Amino acid sequence: MTTLLWFRQDLRLHDHPALVAAAHEGPVVPVYILDDEAPGDWRIGAAQRWWLHHSLAALGKALEDKGSRLILRRGAATRILAELLEETGAGQVHATRHYEPWWTATEQALGDRLCLHDGNHLVPPHEVTTGSGGQYRIYSSFWKALQPHLPPADPLPMPRTIDPPGKWPKSDRLASWGLLPDKPDWSGGFDWTPGEAAALKKVKALDIAGYDTDRNLPSIDGSSRLSPHLHFGEVSARTVWHATGRGDTTFRKELAWRDFTSGVVLALPDYATKNGRPAYDRLPWRSGKGANADLRAWQRGRTGYPIVDAGMRQLWRTGWMHNRVRMIAASFLIKHLLIDWREGERWFWETLIDADYGNNSVNWQWVAGTGVDSNMFSRIMAPITQSEKFDASDYIRRWVPELADVGDDAIHDPEAAGCRPDEYPAKLIGHREARERALAANAKVK
Ligand code: FAD
Repeated sequence: MTTLLWFRQDLRLHDHPALVAAAHEGPVVPVYILDDEAPGDWRIGAAQRWWLHHSLAALGKALEDKGSRLILRRGAATRILAELLEETGAGQVHATRHYEPWWTATEQALGDRLCLHDGNHLVPPHEVTTGSGGQYRIYSSFWKALQPHLPPADPLPMPRTIDPPGKWPKSDRLASWGLLPDKPDWSGGFDWTPGEAAALKKVKALDIAGYDTDRNLPSIDGSSRLSPHLHFGEVSARTVWHATGRGDTTFRKELAWRDFTSGVVLALPDYATKNGRPAYDRLPWRSGKGANADLRAWQRGRTGYPIVDAGMRQLWRTGWMHNRVRMIAASFLIKHLLIDWREGERWFWETLIDADYGNNSVNWQWVAGTGVDSNMFSRIMAPITQSEKFDASDYIRRWVPELADVGDDAIHDPEAAGCRPDEYPAKLIGHREARERALAANAKVK
């Protein structure tokens, strides 16, 4: 019997339990639906549209190599799946389980015609529960609870054949979706190769021997850069896990953060918009003209703090930012500028190629201290100390061209060193003043 295979953030053919099940049942109609309505404000951001275009092109080609096709449709997923079931005479829809809240309505509408398969996480996050059956809210407890489930299941091989249906339904042309930027084309610095083949190549070449320390140093390439591939499911988390060894615990723990954040948004679907600690609804965030101008300066990498500016410019140019710098830049927006974390989260959503509903919201709330995990608001990162400690000098020189000729002695804080290169802005606010203002605002929460 013909079945539909509904691709979402699982754009791969290997280790794909839903594909294996569909191929086993008979002819398969693989479909990807661009649905900008269901996620509302969380529809795919601009940087990810670039990625999606290339990833879908790669998936379509891989399916064609197997004598199949990728059917593309745009619109409300609930309606389109109903139409496709009718057009193809398919009995079932197979899909990988996802945890973003906007999938629920379509999944419920499909009822027992939908068969969900676990495949995008190390262990299905809904199965890792507390004694009372809920989701974990503290990562360290989650990691402990995950142990009996590890190692994750072995990855499944790609099915040898994927039978085509007797008649293919109509498909949109990928180019007609306009996912790539044109006027202007800001993707010139996107030095990435989306798609399953590139993801697997990266996993094969994975070298994380020095990961424990190197991952914190923005000037070197010390992490895997697998995040966009993992977000779009071009490679499964368990494939990545099994490519590492017992000694790679730090890396495996980071990989498990993905599972954790999916559990958080499963339990708290509006975590991207609501403070995990309701007391923080009282925090007097800045707003108005001055705050708007500061937000724009942060977005453009013109705060006068080189480490923050380098990170924000790396993000704009490449669609990705180093994890340590994400923490510093996020902390700076929230605490130094006293701007609501949701403004930063939204900017990341538009500009990150790895923007992920769970990972983004949980990390923003973690840095803000507004979340269900730790209360970190009063832990205010000092950007200049961080920049020195993690030796960001080459990173700054690379991403802030105005500072390319500044020596190590002045690079972390050119203003204090009396070095004012043309075009580089003065600090928006001094560290001590910002710290006092943030702590005073935090006192109002209590
Ligand atoms: P590696 O260090 O090689 O880690 C391997 C994989 O583990 C990553 O690809 C990622 O899937 C996962 N991972 C690592 N760290 C984290 C983490 N802290 N939380 C969740 N998963 C993690 N990551 C996203 O994937 N999408 C986001 O939208 C996102 N937003 C963030 C926002 C802020 C404010 C901060 C501080 C962090 C955010 N992160 C996000 C987490 C982290 O910065 C990135 O996952 C990491 O930098 C990606 O680089 P990598 O693939 O080289 O990571």
